[in-house]
Amino acid sequence: MGQLTIIEDFPKNQATFDARFNTEEACQAYLFKLRWPDGFVCTQCSDKRHWKSSRGLYICYRCEHQHSVTAGTIMSGTRKPLVAWFKAMWWFTTRKSGVNAINLQDLLGLGSYNTAWRWLQKLRSCTIRQSREKLSGKIEADEFYLGGEHGGGKRGRGAEHKCAVAVAVERKGHKLGRIRLQLIDDCSSGQLVPFVCSNITPGSYVTTDGWKSYNDLGAEGYMHQKIVRSKAPDKESVLSGAHLVISLIKRLMIGTFQGRFEKKYLQRYLDEYVFRFNRRTTASVGKRFFRIVQQAVTTKALPKKQIMLGVPSLGLAN
Ligand SMILES: [Zn+2]
Repeated sequence: MGQLTIIEDFPKNQATFDARFNTEEACQAYLFKLRWPDGFVCTQCSDKRHWKSSRGLYICYRCEHQHSVTAGTIMSGTRKPLVAWFKAMWWFTTRKSGVNAINLQDLLGLGSYNTAWRWLQKLRSCTIRQSREKLSGKIEADEFYLGGEHGGGKRGRGAEHKCAVAVAVERKGHKLGRIRLQLIDDCSSGQLVPFVCSNITPGSYVTTDGWKSYNDLGAEGYMHQKIVRSKAPDKESVLSGAHLVISLIKRLMIGTFQGRFEKKYLQRYLDEYVFRFNRRTTASVGKRFFRIVQQAVTTKALPKKQIMLGVPSLGLAN
């Protein structure tokens, strides 16, 4: 296949995690293995020989270029110990509903709430792999609103002060497969059709309700089934997978954020939710940790300014 195989080496539980990643050297060695799975190669001259300095830098034997295991990763330039980063990645991935900034500040004994908040934003930024495979097979697509619960006003698709979110869910018989969530500007076809196209493999069987914005899915190469709820014999079964996911997210947003959040940070919460949901059946919690460290090593640290800017919705991104 010509593809590199990385041996999946991860702690199976809290006790083995605690015993293994309690020194800077142990964390550096783990990052080193993920960064250079086939052994060290100098980024400047490709020489494979190297030595490690007392400050934890990997130095090329030939050109003496200094490589840090955190350069070009989300931990780049950090002044905090790697042991703390590893703990953050462990809690982020192994706790059932994740951690919030107050929990993390407390768990790590960080002096600043803002540091904990930024770390979580960085971790969320590496929950999504750009090269991830699109959903396929039988899919339910729908949209819903988050926020503005107490604002009153209009309900439904024209509601104001709410964030519109597109959802797609794989159906595997009675079970659910993977999901996708995307913050959108509105429920127009200009938002919903690109959402489907960028998240679902053409040729898939896509079920939606009767909303007109989905009318073009057939022309985009999908097998489109439209079910008008009011005319369906069994109303409960219409888009039941998508509706289950929507209710879980709403409950989480209310439980974790009391329904209050800033729109610009919503996509990162959605990304974290998708990461957790799509790995809900993973046998070992340690495997989720492994995935995040793996992604953290290949994801560039977001500059502080960009973290504060958040993520635009689908429409604004283009
Ligand atoms: Zn070199």
